[in-house]
Amino acid sequence: MSDCLFCKIIDGQIPSLKVYEDEQVFAFMDIMPLTKGHTLLIPKTHCKDLFEMPEEVARNLYAAAPKVANAIKAAFNPVGMNTVNNNGEAAGQTVFHYHLHLIPRYDETDGLQVKWNSRQAEFPTEVLTAIAGQIKENI
Ligand code: AMP
Ligand code: ZN
Repeated sequence: MSDCLFCKIIDGQIPSLKVYEDEQVFAFMDIMPLTKGHTLLIPKTHCKDLFEMPEEVARNLYAAAPKVANAIKAAFNPVGMNTVNNNGEAAGQTVFHYHLHLIPRYDETDGLQVKWNSRQAEFPTEVLTAIAGQIKENI
């Protein structure tokens, strides 16, 4: 898409710090990294988000993800890695070309706080079963 920031990065119209590229994907440093080595992996085919991503594009993107993740691991020896993908403004998406954040983790002082507040009590088995049914019906 001509007015898409990440399409322009792929085309080289906007500079980036590229770490990997093949026919299908492009990986580069996040300009505002959360931790050392924070990298973005994107498909060369423009798709806005996960909802609009063709299976083939997803297949190719995830085929490259371990390669890039392992390069980050080999470079900096993190103790873990969060992979994050925000879809939609409400979910925190700010660039509307699908991207997978690869965020290496070091220790509790690495500056990234991910806190999951479980609401398990609100979702007993019968409720979860109904929810699963609704999703299944829509696949
Ligand atoms: P999200 O909020 O999930 O849409 O993430 C967008 C990410 O793109 C943010 O982490 C930004 O720091 C990053 N970003 C925005 N512009 C650029 C750019 N020109 N080069 C590299 N990363 C960028
Ligand atoms: Zn794009």
